[in-house]
Amino acid sequence: MKVKEDKIQQRHNKHTSPDRRAQARREQERREILAICVICFNQPHNCVLLDCGHVCCCHTCYEALPRKYCPICRQRIERVLRLYHV
Ligand SMILES: [Zn+2]
Ligand SMILES: [Zn+2]
Repeated sequence: MKVKEDKIQQRHNKHTSPDRRAQARREQERREILAICVICFNQPHNCVLLDCGHVCCCHTCYEALPRKYCPICRQRIERVLRLYHV
């Protein structure tokens, strides 16, 4: 009887919120890694370079670029759009 109770307790623990929160945090970290600026690796990239359309750097690095060429494909940057993630 004691053993059976423990099993139920274990199964119940799988669905408690701390686990879910940890999973959500891992998911968020993964997204943040994917969304990191390729230049400074420090901030999330938050601007899109046009016309090539690459979203690869943060606005700080874009402004610091010596020449306005895309760091990914070297295409000339005609315009830049800030991204505002929600
Ligand atoms: Zn940057
Ligand atoms: Zn590009």
